[in-house]
Amino acid sequence: MKFVRYQDGAGQARYGVLDGETVHAADGDPFAGGLTAGSAVGALGELTLLPPVQPGKIVCVGLNYAAHVTETDATRAVPEEPVLFMKPPSALVGHGAPIAIANPDNRTDHEAELAVVIGRRARGVAAASAADYILGYTAGNDVSDRPLQQKDGQWVRAKGFDTYCPLGPCVATDLDPTAGDGLAVVSRLNGETKQSSTTRDMIFDVPALIAYISGIMTLEPGDVIMTGTPEGVGPMRPGDTIEVEVGGVGVLRNPVTAR
Ligand code: MG
Repeated sequence: MKFVRYQDGAGQARYGVLDGETVHAADGDPFAGGLTAGSAVGALGELTLLPPVQPGKIVCVGLNYAAHVTETDATRAVPEEPVLFMKPPSALVGHGAPIAIANPDNRTDHEAELAVVIGRRARGVAAASAADYILGYTAGNDVSDRPLQQKDGQWVRAKGFDTYCPLGPCVATDLDPTAGDGLAVVSRLNGETKQSSTTRDMIFDVPALIAYISGIMTLEPGDVIMTGTPEGVGPMRPGDTIEVEVGGVGVLRNPVTAR
C-alpha cells in the first residue's frame, strides 16, 4: 500500500491511500490498525501534499555510499561505524513545497536518500528482526549548505534550515531495499539526472542501521531515518526544480526558491 497526507478543503491534514496517481480519502491510522480507502479525492498532482508522516525525530546517516565518501574528500576513509546526525522536524516539507535557500551565495546541495519510516517502538533491535519495526519507505532530500557544514564542524545549522528536509510524496509499505537489485535512488535537477544508484550500494544497510541506531536511542512510530546519499550531489539554485526518485515509492519534486 502507498499512503499520503494531504490538506483537505477545510485545511485539515488527512491521510489518503494512493492508487496509481489517484488519492482516496482514508480512515484509520497507518500506525495502529491500518488505513481504509474511501472515495477518490483527486490526483496526486492536484492536492496539497504534506510530509507523509510527522516524526518526533529525523535521524540521518552521513557517508553511507562509498563513492559519495570519496567525492566529498578523495582521501577520506569509508566509516567503520555509521555516521549519525539529526535534522529537526521543522525542516520538513512535502512534495511540491518550495525549498527556500537560506544562503544563496553558499553552495547548497541536493542529496537524494531512501527514508525509512519506523512503525513501532524500537529499542535494542537486532538486525535480523529490524523489518518488524518498519512501517515503510519514502523519498527524502537532505538539503545541505556546504560552506556552513565545513565551517561548523557539525551539521545542525547546515542541514537544519526550514524546508531543508523534503519528504514524500508517499510512504510505500511493501518494499525491501535489501532484496534483489535494491531500490533505485535517483535525483534529477531540472530534468537532468545527477545521482543514480541503488540501495545495494549502501555501506550499512537498513537492518544494520536500525540495529545501530536503536542501540543508542529509542525509535518511536513515525520517526524517520535518512539513510545517506549516493555520489553525484550538486548545487541547487532559486528557479531550479529538484526531483528525488526512490524505486517503488515515486518522485518527490520540489521547486527551489530564495528565502
Ligand atoms: Mg545526507
